Amino acid sequence: MDLLSIDSLSDEQIATLLERGEHWFEENRARRPAEPLKGRLVLNLFYEHSTRTAMSFAAAAHRLGASPLFLPVEQSSVKKGETFEDTARTLGAMRPDCLVLRHRENGAPARMAGMVECPVINAGDGTNEHPTQALLDALAIRLRFRRIEGLKVAILGDIRHSRVAHSNALLLPRLGATVRLAGPAMLMPDELLATPSVDEAIEGADVVMMLRVQRERLAEELGDAPGEYLERYGLTPERLARAAPGAVVMHPGPMNRGVEIADEIADDPERSLILLQVEAGVALRMACLELLLA
Ligand code: ASP
Repeated sequence: MDLLSIDSLSDEQIATLLERGEHWFEENRARRPAEPLKGRLVLNLFYEHSTRTAMSFAAAAHRLGASPLFLPVEQSSVKKGETFEDTARTLGAMRPDCLVLRHRENGAPARMAGMVECPVINAGDGTNEHPTQALLDALAIRLRFRRIEGLKVAILGDIRHSRVAHSNALLLPRLGATVRLAGPAMLMPDELLATPSVDEAIEGADVVMMLRVQRERLAEELGDAPGEYLERYGLTPERLARAAPGAVVMHPGPMNRGVEIADEIADDPERSLILLQVEAGVALRMACLELLLA
């Protein structure tokens, strides 16, 4: 079994991942060691920069007793012109128990899965999907609210380039939440241009999920000064006041502080779930490795 997209998971598998994610979250907090995957080898292959996803997959493998290894792509034969297919077959020949792949091209993890025998996990492909991010977001919401069903989630900002938004828009409605997507017109996909404004989407939301402006995927400059983006579309205390009482704030990271999110909101110990997302990420990825490898 591979973990390539939200739609590749059954409702039952999603329920298991969230339950086991919660289990591992508690075990990690209690610092109880576990080694169900002792002796297993997890290869991590990241063709794009990453802090949270890369380190949390490594931490998850360690915490389960498996060994995570990283190919430093910048210093590898990829730089000598080796093709993606040859790199995939080469790593596959080392007989890993799992391959975790982040790639700038949509569909690269699915291609990899066709070339190696072990399970492949999509750790983010281009603008397509980031399924383990959506699952960890769901886990963080569940840890905070004790439910997902019935919640209103506003996902705001650079929807056009966001694999996080795509995976969450597929996952959260399956768990009973209502999802509203909004952002500046130039950062919305064409089919969503008629959606509400950021201010309308935030109205009464229980969860406000901000997205990073993905400058590396933008063909043209945004034009506006960073402060102007914050003022018009970003999460400021004034804008957050439109959300439901007790609303929480999420961001997959890395944050452009002062662009899509104001400092005081990012650092609000009561309302910001941003570091809880990171902690839930390790636990959820433990659940993924367990499901695929155990
Ligand atoms: N870290 C997330 C991703 O890789 C979000 C982002 O980069 O903006 O998709």
